[in-house]
Amino acid sequence: MAKQILILGGGYGGLLSALTARKYFTPQEAEITLVNRVPYHQIVTELHRLAVSGLNEGNVALPLNKLLKNKSIQLIIDNVENIDPEKKQVRLLASGNLGYDKLVVALGGETAFFGIPGLEENSMTLKSVEEAKKVSAHIQARLDAYAKSKDEKDATIVIGGGGLTGIELTGEIVDMLPKWCEKRGIDRSEIKLHNIEAGPTILAGFPAELLERAKESLTKRGVNLIMGVAVTEVQGTKVMLKDGSSIDTNTFVWTGGVTGNPVVANCGIEVNRGRATVNEFLQSTSHSDVFLAGDNAVVFGPEGRPYPPSAQIAWQMGEAIGYNLYADYKGIPLQSFQFVNSGVLASLGRKDAIGTVGASQLRLRGLSATLMKEASNVRYLQHVNGLSSILH
Ligand SMILES: Cc1cc2nc3c(=O)[nH]c(=O)nc-3n(C[C@H](O)[C@H](O)[C@H](O)COP(=O)(O)OP(=O)(O)OC[C@H]3O[C@@H](n4cnc5c(N)ncnc54)[C@H](O)[C@@H]3O)c2cc1C
Repeated sequence: MAKQILILGGGYGGLLSALTARKYFTPQEAEITLVNRVPYHQIVTELHRLAVSGLNEGNVALPLNKLLKNKSIQLIIDNVENIDPEKKQVRLLASGNLGYDKLVVALGGETAFFGIPGLEENSMTLKSVEEAKKVSAHIQARLDAYAKSKDEKDATIVIGGGGLTGIELTGEIVDMLPKWCEKRGIDRSEIKLHNIEAGPTILAGFPAELLERAKESLTKRGVNLIMGVAVTEVQGTKVMLKDGSSIDTNTFVWTGGVTGNPVVANCGIEVNRGRATVNEFLQSTSHSDVFLAGDNAVVFGPEGRPYPPSAQIAWQMGEAIGYNLYADYKGIPLQSFQFVNSGVLASLGRKDAIGTVGASQLRLRGLSATLMKEASNVRYLQHVNGLSSILH
């Protein structure tokens, strides 16, 4: 009888697990089922562009049924409510219980609010296509309102978090402001755009010379970078900071942290700060019939520090799991997961970016980094056959 492989999450880790497993298993050997909350695969790394309406929704929301066409992978659009690893059962909101022989969990992370009072209630976040569309509609509605009311809160945009997500979003917004203002007859200089980062610098982890470049590029275009100052509380429209100052705004987007997924953290498998601990084959350290990919697992690098969550590692973990499911089935040695870091690129807006690429960590800035970022997106789309889904 065919084995039941159940994959939770249709993001980078889940989709690549499904596609890779299907390359190895015949339909007679395994039935593969993929469950995802939404009917599309989200190109999360491009959400900042959707959040300013800088590209079509179709470029970031790729229909899963097209990506899985002719692959003999069953797709269920539903919400995973609970995993019971002892009973080998998953509860879905609408479809009820599903059993499995092998489970892959790739549900992604959630936004962390660090217990900061009022933060969750008074901010928008940027983790999904729906959230990106909300941010775009909100900013434009506030600018519409400002053109009439001249309420400064409508002319003030605050992005909390100076990591990759926060800076990429800030860079997109600052590039769109001249066009948005012109359309509404607003003087661009009346609009304030702040990025607040609690750590000593934005884009922590990038080489110092690239950081300087990033800061200069953003400030020159009118971004107020506030670094080394934490958000301590949000009261309605007032964002309060650790240095005692505050900013009044009607637009606050919080991108300041990622945390584990509660479905994973609470299901009874072994976790470390909300992310599952895995062995070298990406199996749960407590339940070997459960594999974990992407933001749901904590994987340590050679220096003993966990790799930061990224699309790149999630994709590679998915592929490794696809193979290991088959190796396990065949009783042949599983492969240990080795992350190949091809670099990291941060867009600073439409025409500027910084990054390090390749094993030599070649440093890129400006147009070359922008083009490299575009190229890595296209490479990924080609890999999952996403280009045809965008074009047709
Ligand atoms: C705005 C933004 C920009 C980023 N930019 C970069 C970048 O440039 N480079 C980079 O490497 N990384 C980037 N990252 C990080 C990267 O996107 C994540 O690390 C990556 O998406 C993790 O992949 P994943 O498969 O674990 O989860 P995801 O890609 O988040 O996929 C999880 C999937 O599970 C689904 N899901 C979640 N909960 C449930 C549930 N209960 N039931 C059913 N389905 C559910 C979701 O709908 C989603 O489809 C960025 C992240 C964000 C938010």
